[in-house]
Amino acid sequence: MNTIALNLQDINEEIKKCCDKVKRDPAEVKLIAVSKFKPVEVIEDAYKLGHRNFGENRVQELVDKVPALPHDIKWHLIGTLQRNKVKYIVDSVELIHSVHSLALAREISKQAKKKNVDVNILLQVNIAEEESKHGFQEDQLLPELKEIASLEGIKVKGLMTMAPIADDPEKVRPVFRGLRLLAEKIKEFNYPNVDMKELSMGMSDDFKVAIEEGATYVRIGSRIFGPRN
Ligand SMILES: *Cc1c(COP(=O)(O)O)cnc(C)c1O
Repeated sequence: MNTIALNLQDINEEIKKCCDKVKRDPAEVKLIAVSKFKPVEVIEDAYKLGHRNFGENRVQELVDKVPALPHDIKWHLIGTLQRNKVKYIVDSVELIHSVHSLALAREISKQAKKKNVDVNILLQVNIAEEESKHGFQEDQLLPELKEIASLEGIKVKGLMTMAPIADDPEKVRPVFRGLRLLAEKIKEFNYPNVDMKELSMGMSDDFKVAIEEGATYVRIGSRIFGPRN
């Protein structure tokens, strides 16, 4: 087996073990292979092994890769999205993980209506309140959610967060837990077009803790494809 095959096998095994530990169904946890900065050949390798969910963090790279690869790939935009680039991706992504403002949600709605599609989104929340990270602050999201829920052409599927870099993944457990608690709070509003089924959290170094705290999407790059230069 090649390295990617071995890595995918290892990670899937770890996901399963982790789910067993906390009595979750492993089918609830979807692995997104983060292929940013990696050439299409590498994505093809993972595709041939049966992998279908891939994540990119830059619009240009996503736009270049989509036509070069099989049509049944599910593409996830996980990086910062600028409003002027929404139009390039609304009809080619499975899920936009990184909706960090009301203005961005409005633009996605506008472009979705133009192309007559429904776009699945997650709201990115800056649980750790890091200056350097995008995302809603928790107390800012709640009052804006009602308008987001009313926007046509978008379906809010859940929340996403990025944990700070930490030497010990236990240190970021409260961040993942905070995202889950916020999702539970939001569920109680019962807004139309807002369901809180998905929690996108956890990367190569902290995905196990994220799964223990309820992640339904883990976004893993370097553990699958090796370091990025
Ligand atoms: C790059 C990236 C990842 C994957 O990071 P790894 O540490 O390589 O697993 C996950 N989420 C986002 C938003 C990223 O930009």
